Amino acid sequence: MPELPEVETVRRGLAPYIEGARIERVTLHRPDLRFPFPQEFATALEGRTIAHLGRRAKYLVATLSDGATWLSHLGMTGAFLVGDRPVDEPSRIGAADASGKHIHFEALLTHPARGPVSLSYSDPRRFGFMDLFAPGAPNPFTDPLGPEPLGNGVDALYLAARLEGKKGPIKTVLLDQRVIAGLGNIYVCEALHASRIDPRRAAGTLDEAEIERLVPAIRQVLEAAIAAGGSTLRDFARADGQPGYFQHSFAVYGHEGDPCPRPGCGGEIERIVQAGRSTFFCPVCQD
Ligand code: ZN
Repeated sequence: MPELPEVETVRRGLAPYIEGARIERVTLHRPDLRFPFPQEFATALEGRTIAHLGRRAKYLVATLSDGATWLSHLGMTGAFLVGDRPVDEPSRIGAADASGKHIHFEALLTHPARGPVSLSYSDPRRFGFMDLFAPGAPNPFTDPLGPEPLGNGVDALYLAARLEGKKGPIKTVLLDQRVIAGLGNIYVCEALHASRIDPRRAAGTLDEAEIERLVPAIRQVLEAAIAAGGSTLRDFARADGQPGYFQHSFAVYGHEGDPCPRPGCGGEIERIVQAGRSTFFCPVCQD
């Protein structure tokens, strides 16, 4: 699954082409992705202008000129293309895609500065989806989400309140999207290592100092991944043509048996399974 940094990389790549653009024509090449496209989806988009492209957790959220919301999730293999070029994440486009046979959605836009822009969506495995919400309508995907880890809503005070009394492991609690939105398995492992907290600890037992280390660590691992974004993925994709997730830049994720990268630690990274997901951590410096 793409994690928050990949989705943010796509958002930043796409925004300059579609913000301010008018949607002239939309063509759907099949009735559904993971879910059916909304009723009259093409007609509903045509004639509207994309005012803003935002992100909420792992959803791309385009706000249209009348306040309606066009939501997209990339699933596992979804990618937006401008012209015939994938937007800032070529690792998602395998060789099979070059034929265009996995392009399920196409739109012709008119951008005020760039002129005509052709936008398409490719998704070989079709775990992605799109939906459309009227202004102010309830959104079952984004309404239940907690605050964004890169926004101002997640601070030590907030997190302390959410962890209080929780008996579950901190690793699992941090993956709860109602606590923090968009934080995935890889970055929870990385943030816990960076803040030297054992992923098995009961969430409610973290003290003030630990929470004050954890909050900026979450922000830093995500920001570092976003900063590494496009170019890292491009190089990685060229190497073996497979999707890649910044693997070489992780401190613990995927590094079972490797020495802990913390200077002077001397520990060895272990892998355990918590709530069905792999956790990588250093049993020496994380306690
Ligand atoms: Zn260590």
